Amino acid sequence: MTTATPETASIVKDNWQRVQSDVEQACTTAGRNINDVRIVGVSKYVDAALTMQLVEAGCTVLGENRPQVLWEKWKWFDEQDNAPSNVTWHMIGHFQRNKVRRTLPRIALLESLDNLRLAEVVNAEAQKLEITLPVLIDVNVTQDSSKTGLPASELPSFIEQAQSLPAIKIRGLMAMSSLHSESHVAREEFAKVRQLRDDMLTRFGDSIELPELSMGMSGDFREAIAEGATMVRIGSNLWRGIIG
Ligand SMILES: *Cc1c(COP(=O)(O)O)cnc(C)c1O
Repeated sequence: MTTATPETASIVKDNWQRVQSDVEQACTTAGRNINDVRIVGVSKYVDAALTMQLVEAGCTVLGENRPQVLWEKWKWFDEQDNAPSNVTWHMIGHFQRNKVRRTLPRIALLESLDNLRLAEVVNAEAQKLEITLPVLIDVNVTQDSSKTGLPASELPSFIEQAQSLPAIKIRGLMAMSSLHSESHVAREEFAKVRQLRDDMLTRFGDSIELPELSMGMSGDFREAIAEGATMVRIGSNLWRGIIG
């Protein structure tokens, strides 16, 4: 794995600035306000020191998909003399129930809630910590059988049951497009996610708010922004020239 050097710091900084301007451009094209779309810097490809270089470049929201890695990086960050205080972590990957306890105190948002047993465990642990954890529901709107995520058809009953769990707060939906999908397919899938969100707002009325749509990655953030994404999860584009 590449190690952090002054040279990688300058590459990461350039990448961060380019990703920011690409996202701004996509907002402008879509007629949206740039402040309405946040970039989650997906740091799963690199170690803690390189992740820190991304933070130093200006990225303050980090996404990790493996709990152990998140714990390790969090600890490493915490041990630095100049540890940045404004960094928040999002859990974006499949989440096993036995990892919940150690992860909750470290994350600001769980983006990958995809089953009720997990929701119950998260709720119980959040209650012990006396916190309310914001969560997104990971929905599967694709035909890929390999994808995780709650089938869209199960969303209404899932929300109904999750709403009775007081220590989790549902803030919106997270989704991915089909693997290797063409631009128009990705866009249709993201439109489906937005439609699903609107359907849930109609169905559940004032009892729920779903302001967040986390969708779009390095290859399809433009399509996602065009369809209403409020968070894009960008990995590869931030690590160009550093990995692979
Ligand atoms: C890796 C990952 C991303 C980032 O994907 P890139 O194509 O590298 O930008 C986004 N979301 C999830 C859930 C991921 O696992």
